[in-house]
Amino acid sequence: MANPLTPPQSRRPPKVSVIGAGMVGSALAYSLIVERVAGEVVLVDVNRNRAEGEAIDINHAVPFSSPTRVMAGDYADCRHSDVVVITAGVAQKPGETRLDLLARNVNIYRDIIPRLTDVAANAILLIVSNPVDILTYAAVKLSGLPWQRVIGSGTVLDTARFRYELGAHCQVDPRNVHAYILGEHGDSEVPIWSLANIAGIPFPRFCETCHRGCPPGEFDRMFQRVKNAAYEIIKLKGATYFAIALGATRMVEAILRNQNTVMTASVLMQGQHGLSDVCLSLPVAIGSGGATRVLEMSISGEERMALLNSAQVLRGTLTKVGF
Ligand code: NAD
Repeated sequence: MANPLTPPQSRRPPKVSVIGAGMVGSALAYSLIVERVAGEVVLVDVNRNRAEGEAIDINHAVPFSSPTRVMAGDYADCRHSDVVVITAGVAQKPGETRLDLLARNVNIYRDIIPRLTDVAANAILLIVSNPVDILTYAAVKLSGLPWQRVIGSGTVLDTARFRYELGAHCQVDPRNVHAYILGEHGDSEVPIWSLANIAGIPFPRFCETCHRGCPPGEFDRMFQRVKNAAYEIIKLKGATYFAIALGATRMVEAILRNQNTVMTASVLMQGQHGLSDVCLSLPVAIGSGGATRVLEMSISGEERMALLNSAQVLRGTLTKVGF
């Protein structure tokens, strides 16, 4: 039975710290208050003015949402965080691949992670900076935390883009499209066509009853748009942040409310599909312990080969940076 004299600390509002108050970090802080997920949000950035400005601006939205304390702070202010989301880093430039960002961002993580483990040892770490799979691996190793407590946003965004494309094309609410992108958040990512379905109806069967007569290659073009979406958006407006902010908000919510929501998060492989010593995305149940379960889907032989290739690409990159 719960102790009626529960100490105040266990009743404190859910606290989320966001490291990096740039486009993604500030959009995330904003969506955390709009979605009423956190009670307290701390923004930390090397550019303190940026964090201060974002905190003031977002606080002025609180009267339109629900009481939430948003503040700019430093690492000491991250103490007692339930979740720490790391978005710090250098954003992708036009024409630059995610892997090009690698060296710059690994160094930032070498600086940030020890500071966080000092003050927020009980938090779940959610990694968003790119290349997210490499930095999730770096965060696991640099923090010494159990792998379940360090999760990357991985292909959460790619899976959402995939569902959006399929839903828009097939004129079905994307929430009723069950389709996954696994592997690397990047060029080697793998669409799992063999299990993709709308309300339980596999795509080949759905298409038979649709009679729209789509030209050959239509589905592959949809996947290409998913894979190249970041490049396209960055070319048009310089950065992508709204969709990842809401995706990360859903991940934070799943943790804070122990929802065991299945999302394609990047975690350290534990032998699933024969993979280990690399972080990549599989469907993961996300709850208060972080990655509470990693689901091993019955994917096709071809998809498994593509997943192994994705792991190989990532392992090669990890080796290049000394992991
Ligand atoms: P941004 O340049 O707008 O913001 C990055 C912020 O990090 C800046 O405010 C910068 O001052 C801060 N920063 C840099 N070094 C820091 C340090 N050592 N400590 C604290 N803060 C530091 O970039 P953005 O558009 O917000 O993107 C942030 C990251 O998120 C990038 O790596 C980007 O590629 C990634 N991203 C990931 C996804 C995904 O799906 N995982 C989607 C979009 C963007």
